[in-house]
Amino acid sequence: MIPNPGPLLYEGKAKRVFKSIDSDDEVVVEFKNTATAFNALKKAEFEDKGRLNCQISAYLFELLEQEGIPTHYLGLMSDSWMGAQKVEVIPLEIVIRNVAAGSLCRETPIKPGTNLSPALLDIYYKDDSLGDPLLTEERLERLEVINHQEKNEIENLARTINRLLTAFFVEIDLTLVDFKLEFGTNHEGQIILADEISPDTCRLWDKRTSDPKKRILDKDRFRQDLGFVVDAYGEVLKRVQGACAKPRNYR
Ligand code: UDP
Repeated sequence: MIPNPGPLLYEGKAKRVFKSIDSDDEVVVEFKNTATAFNALKKAEFEDKGRLNCQISAYLFELLEQEGIPTHYLGLMSDSWMGAQKVEVIPLEIVIRNVAAGSLCRETPIKPGTNLSPALLDIYYKDDSLGDPLLTEERLERLEVINHQEKNEIENLARTINRLLTAFFVEIDLTLVDFKLEFGTNHEGQIILADEISPDTCRLWDKRTSDPKKRILDKDRFRQDLGFVVDAYGEVLKRVQGACAKPRNYR
């Protein structure tokens, strides 16, 4: 079923955001089948990816809400659509790393697979035209996108989310290697978790195999041309579904 949302507000690389016909404080988010990597230099369509990411995100948002984390999630509308609180997006990407991979290993001598406990928290400025640069503490201060108190709040939320998700994924034999979070401010001025949590934005390794390629169940399958992208996302949803309460429906 395809919902009948209001006009399109914004189209990103992986999602479309529509005005809600019910409320000015809410939006309708459609998850697309498009996958992009390397700042959209690499792009492809994967049948069913939108549904898988929407469902996985819904389950994980629901789990986090139950643990007291404020999120934009309001409920599923159909396979690849969800209702969400409208937020003013804070233009930062908060990356939490439990195990070294990706850019950390390209940009530093830290070897892939190194355990990073306590988790490393990196803050990037969200701007595709600048290539989402990694910020320093002082650069973040100069940008004035968040104040000191908001920075503390976001970092505390991100670390709590990491603790909750890491523990959850262990139960379903997945290692949460790293992931990216985005936050926004809702109509009440509260900072809440926004965007998505899916294999597009997380690195997830299957603990049931030690094969360094087979264990990858996330967008690295696309980045590294490993194939079986949708199968990997489907395996993640299957395990998440088996361990979680069903996410609520939107109204
Ligand atoms: N990530 C993301 N969007 C971005 C950049 C990173 O979702 O624009 C996620 C990525 O999937 C990984 C984590 O953040 O789970 C860390 O990514 P990294 O900095 O290692 O960059 P990459 O190797 O993906 O270029």
